[in-house]
Amino acid sequence: MNTTASAENYNILLTFDVEDWFQVENFKSCISYESWGNREFRVQDNTVKILELLDGFRFKPKATFFILGWVARRLPALVREIVSRGHEVASHGYGHDLCPLMTAGALAKDLGYSKMLLEDILGTRVTGYRAPSFSISEQTLGLVRDAGYLYDASYNSFGSHGRYGHLDLSRITRQNGVYRISPDFYEIPVSNLELGSRVLPLGGGGYFRLFPFQLFKQGMKAVLKKEKTFVFYAHPWEFDPDQPRVKQAPAGFRFRHYINLDQMEYKISALIRSFANARFTTCRLHLKETTG
Ligand SMILES: [Zn+2]
Repeated sequence: MNTTASAENYNILLTFDVEDWFQVENFKSCISYESWGNREFRVQDNTVKILELLDGFRFKPKATFFILGWVARRLPALVREIVSRGHEVASHGYGHDLCPLMTAGALAKDLGYSKMLLEDILGTRVTGYRAPSFSISEQTLGLVRDAGYLYDASYNSFGSHGRYGHLDLSRITRQNGVYRISPDFYEIPVSNLELGSRVLPLGGGGYFRLFPFQLFKQGMKAVLKKEKTFVFYAHPWEFDPDQPRVKQAPAGFRFRHYINLDQMEYKISALIRSFANARFTTCRLHLKETTG
């Protein structure tokens, strides 16, 4: 019996924000930036776990890895390894500061430096950016473009999450999940399920771990039918049920961070298997296909 969704012409963009367990916004009040260097470093093993998982499929799904500059500077071999396996490397900024909390000057520096760092490691152009915690705005989007990126992938339309930013894309036509912001600059938002004026969070992360897989799959099918494209996000630390626990963090943040970590590997494998007829490709290749 064929249980895969009928999705031959659909593209699924798996994206991973490469940061470690101690760098997330949920724990910012308990873990200072200055202490990062003294924490147990687990991002390398967890990223390799994802690479192995993807390579385990006969059809070799490809993905986009938005890497934090702080991590890239310490693990340049990992950055090269990701590209050598056929995936795309893009920027997640340098120090995981939320964009609205930085001055325009500091943000421009962060955008430029994180891009240059990855380009120096790889010797090729880096074209994509994702803001920490999807903290995008019209002003930030302008700075992303000015820093020389080709696309931004920071918009998450699920407005009920307090940290996510907002963009007004209502006047721009969406094609295969891509918005043309200006002649040489694009927005590729994370997917959500839009039901009338309501938006259900379906892009990935904690919601993917929380929802029963069959429900998520039905939502994905609905988005793919409409958009022909699905943009999914996750983090390497979500594949690590044994990571150190931050006991002093607020209970709500701990719930969001730790819920069902032990199911992540199984669930993402199920996702890939369920949509094996779709193409799992990178943001850059999808953009090229869409815009010509
Ligand atoms: Zn992040």
